[in-house]
Amino acid sequence: MIHIDKVRADFPILQQQVNGKPLVYFDNGATSQKPQEVIDAITNYYTTINSNVHRGVHTLSQLATDEFEATRRKLKAHFNPTHEHEIIFTRGTTEGINLVASTLTSLVKSTDEIIISALEHHSNIVPWQLLCERTGATLKVIPMNDKGELLMDVYDELLTENTKIVAVNHISNALGTLNPVEEIIEKAHKVGAWVLIDGAQSCPHLRIDLQALNCDFFTCSAHKMCGPTGIGFLYGKETILNQLPPYHGGGEMIKDCSFEKTTYAELPHKFEAGTPNIADVIAFGTAIDYINKIGLENIEAYEHELLEYGTEQLSKIPGLKIYGTAKNKASVISFNIGNLHPFDVGTIVDKLGVAVRTGHHCTQPIMTRFDIPGTVRASFAFYNTKEEIDVLVSALQKAVMMLS
Ligand code: PMP
Repeated sequence: MIHIDKVRADFPILQQQVNGKPLVYFDNGATSQKPQEVIDAITNYYTTINSNVHRGVHTLSQLATDEFEATRRKLKAHFNPTHEHEIIFTRGTTEGINLVASTLTSLVKSTDEIIISALEHHSNIVPWQLLCERTGATLKVIPMNDKGELLMDVYDELLTENTKIVAVNHISNALGTLNPVEEIIEKAHKVGAWVLIDGAQSCPHLRIDLQALNCDFFTCSAHKMCGPTGIGFLYGKETILNQLPPYHGGGEMIKDCSFEKTTYAELPHKFEAGTPNIADVIAFGTAIDYINKIGLENIEAYEHELLEYGTEQLSKIPGLKIYGTAKNKASVISFNIGNLHPFDVGTIVDKLGVAVRTGHHCTQPIMTRFDIPGTVRASFAFYNTKEEIDVLVSALQKAVMMLS
């Protein structure tokens, strides 16, 4: 159960007013808010143990290294990969996907095929297009139906012996669809392909067991799950990561370096060149602790209630059309009202204190599929309330009156 007043008190930003109204923050799909303990973790690091990691014998460096590596251990416990060294720190989901697409270059042939889906964020489209440009490989796309569900029978046809990798999101940021990733992974493995799951939108809402899921790569961003921006991780199976060349060259990632030949450090350091984002890695660990204190099962159940209530209430607004009505979906409601432009709607509700996202949500192909310029998107987190949904509904009613 979520003790909503107690939870909301943990988030200083939620106590503020925006445009003279209490803030209603419904842009959690873009980034989540941060509890005080995560903010404090960043300040505490810089105030008490700021130092570079992995290289110093002095006390501060060792303390910083211990706290930095503690996050990797927390991620291991939370996401259950086989090994801790399969967790590579990145700047976020985008960098994780680029790391894989880039280092795969030498393993991909011109006859190979890469499969993505119609529901992908640009960050899970463009890196694969770049890989195809470099190698001559072919990009294939699993289409979707009008509800925003992937057509799995077409996926069966797209999979061939030439499929090298399948890269799909776990939950769509634009429509909220929860994709059948278990089935996608199992079928890809049958033809010998690897699977990358973009977990940017699933990490904040679902319990993820990487060994049970059995994907080959998984990416996530801390800022979507109450952690800081600029940090996330890439999980890769040890055997596969060992086949890939390094991504960036530099300090921290070498075993021995000479002008004639350089050998590389073991995982995870082989993929972590340069001074990492130490403060934010440490605060990411604090965010994981915080999420676990609330309980992912509680979060999932509560957000589902918000989704049902929100869908019911928004549907009462005449002319409102929801995009993304999949049977399995997360707490995201993407919609338009009649012919009103999403940007105009978003601007008016902002004046009333309600933060929603408007536009294409970095998923232009989805907007093209529905022949719309964009949507208004309300995405809920466990610190939102039904009363806030009521505020959104009345703000939308005002927007309709003003714009019609
Ligand atoms: N994939 C999905 C599904 C996302 O929602 C996002 C963020 N909106 C990303 C990838 C990219 O994440 P980041 O910008 O944190 O790298």
